[in-house]
Amino acid sequence: MNAEILAVGSELLLGQITNTNARFISNQLSELGINVFYHTVVGDNAKRLEQAIEVAESRADLIIFSGGLGPTKDDLTKETIARHLGVSLESDEVALTHIEQFFAKRGRPMTENNRKQALILAGSEVLANHHGMAPGMIFNKNNRTYILLPGPPKELEPMFQFEAKPKLAAMLNDGGIIASHVMRFYGIGEAELEDQVQDILDAQTNPTVAPLASDGEVTLRVTAKAETEQQAQQLIAAKVAEIQAIVGEHQYGMDDDSLASKTVEMLLDNNLTIAAAESLTAGLFQSELAEIPGVGNALIGGIVTYAAEAKIKHLGISQGLIDTHGVVSGECAAAMASAVQKQFGTNIGIGLTGEAGPTAHDHQPVGTVWIGIAINDEEPLTYLLHLSGMRNTNRLRAVKFTCHYLMQLLEERGYTKRY
Ligand code: ATP
Ligand code: MG
Repeated sequence: MNAEILAVGSELLLGQITNTNARFISNQLSELGINVFYHTVVGDNAKRLEQAIEVAESRADLIIFSGGLGPTKDDLTKETIARHLGVSLESDEVALTHIEQFFAKRGRPMTENNRKQALILAGSEVLANHHGMAPGMIFNKNNRTYILLPGPPKELEPMFQFEAKPKLAAMLNDGGIIASHVMRFYGIGEAELEDQVQDILDAQTNPTVAPLASDGEVTLRVTAKAETEQQAQQLIAAKVAEIQAIVGEHQYGMDDDSLASKTVEMLLDNNLTIAAAESLTAGLFQSELAEIPGVGNALIGGIVTYAAEAKIKHLGISQGLIDTHGVVSGECAAAMASAVQKQFGTNIGIGLTGEAGPTAHDHQPVGTVWIGIAINDEEPLTYLLHLSGMRNTNRLRAVKFTCHYLMQLLEERGYTKRY
């Protein structure tokens, strides 16, 4: 099945809102192993919408519409599709009752154009809207499937996930099931990862393997179709093992894992405590760890030393070190890591210093980051990053790299890591 997502809305074309619906639906379709070949955006204009539908019909057998199911004049998705397909619109009793109740509950008068929202394409299957009024629809004609979804993401997302997706899965599989898992990688670029697993990507049939890169991370989604859940999981496990044999050293987790959650899990599993002295990240490392429940048994505390004076006064970094090496230096990161480790009496001390940008202050290019990691009574180790993002992206990347390197170091030292 090849899909096209057709988002309707002039606000999208004007740049007032981002087409997050297309992103969401694409992501969901990849879990079903459905290819998305085109994202189209068209304004609230019947003629251009009809042209877009014709183009989509020429290249997709599943067309998913987002937006334009509301009560106002500019909402014309249903009407245009109905006219295009030569199908009439009829009022759906369940949807109409739902809309009437919606107004009754809020004590607001219902207008005539709200009735319009209960109109569906004759012969379509209704997708219930539990977070708004307009029902969605799934409609088959000429071996093609049309799915109509409301524009607001808080309505569209649950409707797609819980109403449309199971129906699509059933259509695809005649009772079979689809399962998928995401492998998460860090410290390796998308191109390099794809290059290394090229043979697997080229040969894929079932399971399928789909790469994705975002926020400096790369993922591979492994999706299998089978008759039973267990068979699908076995297919996935075998493919995951095959991939791990090639690029396993760069994998940090699966599915909903994050670098922070895996770091915290590893600290807790091994009874390790941690403290951090942060300059450019100003507490972000600790904040990211603190998002993970249970971290209190590992994260003891930390200190933000943004200015050079604060590094001297609160961490005891020597003026001499700063004069010789600068605050953005491996020496300074190492000294920060050791100092905070000592002050808080932890197994691990982290020191983070760098130039987040947009302008440089310490004679180092923007994006230069030094990470210091002190483990037990070893000499601290340092890592140098050259980041190329915007200021806050660089700050977050610095935190992610810290988690990544820390986990690598701990693993090298024989601490356990769950996969
Ligand atoms: P409503 O009943 O709210 O009018 P609708 O189905 O007619 O719903 P639209 O009028 O097209 O949908 O869009 C309503 C709102 O939903 C938009 O103002 C916008 O905030 C959001 N929205 C619409 N399309 C998208 C999209 N593709 N991605 C993200 N948000 C969107
Ligand atoms: Mg609308």
